Amino acid sequence: MYSDIYKLICEFDKIILARHVGVDPDAMASVMALKDSILLTFPEKKVYAVGSGSNRFSYFGKLDKVEDMKDALLIVLDTPDIRRIDGVVLSDFKKIVKIDHHPFVEKFADIEYIDDTASSASELVLEFITETPLLMNKNIASKIYLGIVSDTNRFMFNNSTGKTFLSVARMIDEYHLEIDSLYEPLYLRPLNEVRLEGFIGLNLSITENGVAYIKLTKEILENFKVDAAAPGNMINNFNYIDEVLIWAFFTEDVKNENIRVSVRSRGPVINTSLSKYNGGGHKYASGARIKTMEDVEKVIKDLDDLCKNYVKKGRDNFEN
Ligand code: AMP
Repeated sequence: MYSDIYKLICEFDKIILARHVGVDPDAMASVMALKDSILLTFPEKKVYAVGSGSNRFSYFGKLDKVEDMKDALLIVLDTPDIRRIDGVVLSDFKKIVKIDHHPFVEKFADIEYIDDTASSASELVLEFITETPLLMNKNIASKIYLGIVSDTNRFMFNNSTGKTFLSVARMIDEYHLEIDSLYEPLYLRPLNEVRLEGFIGLNLSITENGVAYIKLTKEILENFKVDAAAPGNMINNFNYIDEVLIWAFFTEDVKNENIRVSVRSRGPVINTSLSKYNGGGHKYASGARIKTMEDVEKVIKDLDDLCKNYVKKGRDNFEN
């Protein structure tokens, strides 16, 4: 299938790369690395990375504003469904390709390369570049490395397979990646966020069956001078708390008039529960956008039921 995608890249002069709303390092890294690789291989092509950006990820490169996307090839990375694609209208394109590592949600592309056992979209881009004549350099390898590091939480999640380690190890050797200097832009954060993290630790509520949660109102965010995206950046730091199986942040997002829900689990599968609330994601890392505090309570109750079943049935026999 990679060779079919490569053939399409050869065929088109104009290529647009897109990814999901609420950009994160893997989405950004996979798009920018693929853009750079296509341009390195075919300098004469017009290749654009679109979608709304975030200053936080500017070290991956600048996003493009494109007036006319008609008749181009669209490659959508890291996005399983149409409603979460950022910045493009599918009907504008002649051909569409999807490259994704989320569980399948819906078909929207002519060619869909989905591997939900891959750690990240960046790992798939690395595989794609390795298996086709596309070219790579140190800069591209660095972006891919950061995408993989971010989506695996520094190789701590189970999505880091032997294949992930092998391909990353090869890339580090071949492109002489200096890992410590790469981490700095990814992990550097303002003191206010560290203070917010302390606040969350002090104020987490825990349900009877092991769901830790916090509601972060706009007043709390204003107090810490952070935006609604900040809590999502620190949710992985709350793993491995003895009393907690699932943890969830509910963050008031005034700009988008909704409540951002970020959920992580170290046991029960959570994405099916979140899909009831127009959300979804991976088995153990999911999210949603909800409208009311009533829904917050419903999500907490659902997650608590999940924990209850999980503990009752025992980890080995658990199925949602
Ligand atoms: P987050 O907690 O925002 O880092 O998201 C964790 C995972 O859930 C990511 O893989 C997202 O793709 C997915 N996700 C987050 N928000 C939504 C949503 N509103 N709908 C579907 N999936 C989501």
